Amino acid sequence: MKHVAVIEGDDASPEAVRPTIEFIDSLNLGIDWVYPRVGETAEAEHGSPFPAASKKQIDAADTTFFGSTSGSSAAALMYLRWGKQTFANVRPAVYLPGARSPLADPQGIDLAIVRENLEDLYVRAEGDLETLSDPAPTGTTIRRSVKELGAGRYAIKVITEMGSERVIRFAFDLARSREGQRRVTVTSKYNMLPKTDGLFREIAYAVADDYPDIEFECFIVDDFACRLVREAQRFDVVVMPNLYGDILSDAAAGLIGGLGLAASGCYGESYAYFESAHGTAPDIAGQGIINPTANLLSACMMLEHLDLMEPAVRIRAAIATVYADGTDLTPDQGGNASTLEFCSAVRRHI
Ligand code: ATP
Repeated sequence: MKHVAVIEGDDASPEAVRPTIEFIDSLNLGIDWVYPRVGETAEAEHGSPFPAASKKQIDAADTTFFGSTSGSSAAALMYLRWGKQTFANVRPAVYLPGARSPLADPQGIDLAIVRENLEDLYVRAEGDLETLSDPAPTGTTIRRSVKELGAGRYAIKVITEMGSERVIRFAFDLARSREGQRRVTVTSKYNMLPKTDGLFREIAYAVADDYPDIEFECFIVDDFACRLVREAQRFDVVVMPNLYGDILSDAAAGLIGGLGLAASGCYGESYAYFESAHGTAPDIAGQGIINPTANLLSACMMLEHLDLMEPAVRIRAAIATVYADGTDLTPDQGGNASTLEFCSAVRRHI
């Protein structure tokens, strides 16, 4: 028996998470679902948005399936990410024929962005420039220190040796395990930020030496963004620091038909959790039309993590058939189907 903790999330998120869990449950895979109380319900019942009992349930589970949060369940998300040190956020972008891609020829897009998940600007160390006791020297010759720029704020970008090496190794291992092009692309803004993004690139070159069987290339992030749009098919595994990964994985999702198809899994040494890459879609909450594909595909990643490979293959194939057929697609894909109708179609094709 596998144990999965489920946190349904906020706004439209439960409308996609619930039918996803119901669908996986109907396959009788021997999964026991637990529902840790988080957010407002937990606050009302236990006086905390993330009580100790909920943390315990997450710890005891084999993995967690997480809906998107707009705030109230954020403490649980922080725990899953920083508490569990889930440093590698894998965001696949696979084109399913029938999905609403803006490209003339999206056929064959099958890439995975590996986003470093814990560092970079997401350490959220911000402040007022005037409070910097040791004025940081700038890299330009025009001004000697950032203080001379006047009143304003700063944010600290952190790139560590250990944090970079582990996520880059993860990306190379992923490229080895995929039946893809066996290529790792590294991208950062190493020309403008030679110390931080330059370190990420330097470590990538060192790690690449250990993987002679995997092709390795490196692009400056703006150049990569252009290449992603122009020739998405040539990418296999792409690894990058946190902020670029956050932004460019949404761009990659756009290429394959939008955020409704954007799956994701966050992996650490000893824990992994799964969530769609999109947010809570508050603008369509309550309408029952959120596209559940991202959740279903994230659930497939979860099943693979739980060593339930065969059902994951079957679900992916059924989803692909629903897209190819085209009659049960949700409005974001140009269809009229509701979330539940889409899920029923997947069930019919399994
Ligand atoms: P976050 O910052 O938490 O990632 P966001 O503000 O970027 O969230 P999303 O919630 O991801 O926003 O939504 C962006 C747009 O995409 C919205 O118009 C939303 O309705 C749409 N969207 C997101 N996910 C889906 C989905 N699964 N199905 C249909 N539309 C979606």
